[in-house]
Amino acid sequence: MAEETRVALASAKTRLRRRLRFLSTRARELKMIGKALVSTKHPILVHIIPMRQCNLACTYCNEFDDFSKPVPLEEMEKRLDILADMGTSIITISGGEPLMHPDLDEVIRRIRRRGMIAGLITNGFYLNRDRIERLNEAGLEHLQISIDNVTPDEVSKKSLKTLDGRLAMLSQYAVFQVNINSVLGSGVKDPDDALKIAHRAVELGFTSTVGIIHDNNGQLKPLGPHEQEIFEEVMALGKRSFSRFNEFQHNVARGKEHNWRCRSGSRYLYICEDGLVHWCSQQRGYPGIPLPQYTPEMRQREYSTKKFCAPRCTVSCVQQVGMLDNWRDPQNLNPMPMTPPATPQAELVQIGQVRGDS
Ligand code: SF4
Ligand code: SF4
Repeated sequence: MAEETRVALASAKTRLRRRLRFLSTRARELKMIGKALVSTKHPILVHIIPMRQCNLACTYCNEFDDFSKPVPLEEMEKRLDILADMGTSIITISGGEPLMHPDLDEVIRRIRRRGMIAGLITNGFYLNRDRIERLNEAGLEHLQISIDNVTPDEVSKKSLKTLDGRLAMLSQYAVFQVNINSVLGSGVKDPDDALKIAHRAVELGFTSTVGIIHDNNGQLKPLGPHEQEIFEEVMALGKRSFSRFNEFQHNVARGKEHNWRCRSGSRYLYICEDGLVHWCSQQRGYPGIPLPQYTPEMRQREYSTKKFCAPRCTVSCVQQVGMLDNWRDPQNLNPMPMTPPATPQAELVQIGQVRGDS
């Protein structure tokens, strides 16, 4: 039923374009894995923020404001060129709400023109047929929407009810891959919502993943028995996603500490709207170096730096990147201040509860 529904909705031309883009992206992903296994000198995945402002105000979120301006296109292009020159494989555009950026299509084009894989995390509220077609034309390869509940509540408006029409449009017109992320954990009123969301995602032909809400320090908190069952069921449904290989997520669900090597600051970078490099969205403030001054030596140092927050970390994308290097190069350095000339040293800020990107 799943694929048939999607096939019935999409035209033959869209289906063909979707298939071709999927094959081309999958080939480039395999190349990305090969390159990552051969060399540890380049970033594999970078999250970049072109827009901190968001049209929504989910009460758990501390990754948005309601006033900041878009980063100018020229500045975004400079940052993307630096990342391409570093050898970065994948750029995921995040926010705030990146669809509010007036030049988002040009940002995506620049990523593709520089040979990197282009992904986007959005709340989906600005999607319509025209916007989807423009993302197709720009060369987008992955899009993720997080849906928090079946019906909107005081915590979040990102609901199946409010977004379902836009999901159907994606199913009909998008030639890029779509992943729907649902959530489990404290603050989620009805854990069964995650399952309903995942089933709808699969019915529309998308992949589905599930994120787990962490505590106020971005660290793990075990799920209850019923939530764990739902978690395993959603993970089984998301069988086309790479995340199924990730034992880390299962440990997070059980509240177990995980033994891995976080390579943030090196193989994974988080570039905020001010162009500073951070470990990740949960550990903003360190290293806090402007991207143009972030040297290969600094990246190499972070590669070998043990992250105190790793055993109880819930950031699944950084863990997936870590899988490519977990088998080699133990980490034996501690974080140290890395202050570029004439720039005040940024303080390490451990930020609070975040339910997942957008
Ligand atoms: S261990 Fe997790 S929270 Fe800590 S820096 Fe790495 S990704 Fe961020
Ligand atoms: S979770 Fe996403 S949609 Fe909600 S306020 Fe934060 S950035 Fe906006």
